[in-house]
Amino acid sequence: MRPFAFVAADSADAAVRAAAGSARDLPPTDAPTQYLAGGTTLLDLMKLDVMRPQTVIDIGGLKRERGTIESGAEGLHMGALTTMAEAAANPIVRREYPVIAETLTLAASAQLRNMASLGGNVLQRTRCSYFRDTRWEACNKRAPGSGCAALDGVNRQHAILGTSDACIATYPGDFAQALIALDAQIDLAGAGGARRIAFAELHRPPGRTPEVETTLAPGELITAIVVPAGPWTRRSHYLKIRDRESYQFALAGAAVALDLEDGGTVREARAALGGVATVPWRAREAEAALRGRRLDEDAASAAAEAAFAAAAPRRHNAFKVALGKRTLVRALLETGQMQLA
Ligand code: SF4
Repeated sequence: MRPFAFVAADSADAAVRAAAGSARDLPPTDAPTQYLAGGTTLLDLMKLDVMRPQTVIDIGGLKRERGTIESGAEGLHMGALTTMAEAAANPIVRREYPVIAETLTLAASAQLRNMASLGGNVLQRTRCSYFRDTRWEACNKRAPGSGCAALDGVNRQHAILGTSDACIATYPGDFAQALIALDAQIDLAGAGGARRIAFAELHRPPGRTPEVETTLAPGELITAIVVPAGPWTRRSHYLKIRDRESYQFALAGAAVALDLEDGGTVREARAALGGVATVPWRAREAEAALRGRRLDEDAASAAAEAAFAAAAPRRHNAFKVALGKRTLVRALLETGQMQLA
């Protein structure tokens, strides 16, 4: 690991002030100043020499002001310094927003969930092995303009939705799928002041600039995540399919929330797909295909066909098309069968 300066901040204002020197001509994820919360992504990538910040700002001191969960009329308000384990165990989250609790519980390991913050979790970077191993020269995300070793390399884990000729790296997180399905918003603090944006606006698909992964301004900090209340949040569920049942990223995942009429007709459906896309992926085509239909296997299958109609598989990941469809069908049917107290 390279030497770096270490600064501790005890408030969002202090953290943003300390980061104010970040170079503005670099994407946030490559900026010379990085925030450190749980450290479960940043420290890994620093040890691998993929991220090389000159200054690390420890924001653990914000835990008191940005580490709580509250529920009210506007919905669920989660401080960005809340750990994954704390949010997953919260009784309100478990009862009223089960899809959030499930995405958090099924991610990583117990040790990582005890350390990792919610804000850091949504900013975790891809697990593409060419990105994480600097011996590979061709990686547009790590070295813009160098090419993409995964296009003709081993791409079993890679994305089939939202890809470009410059990058096919999969967004690895689960929690983000629940957030995008539930129309979450995030609160930000930065040199330009505080602002709130839709979570769906946070991540950028790779396009021609895969090194630019988010719409955050340099030095901008996530301070909270807000999930609006809705009649679909209690009937919500995450299904994750992976190579092994613990401590593994999704090959396919589906976050689903449903508002059903008494007879089982879909009044409103929310769906997002994990493990198959370059960014957190809202399956709006699937939602449209379900609306107004009775939820049965035919309706779920039609929704899954719509969700993957634009899939662009590569040599080793074509199996994700069938797997992704089956995952969504099963998630929808399981969600429909949930018994609500
Ligand atoms: Fe790099 Fe993206 Fe290609 Fe992976 S898929 S090697 S992250 S450019």
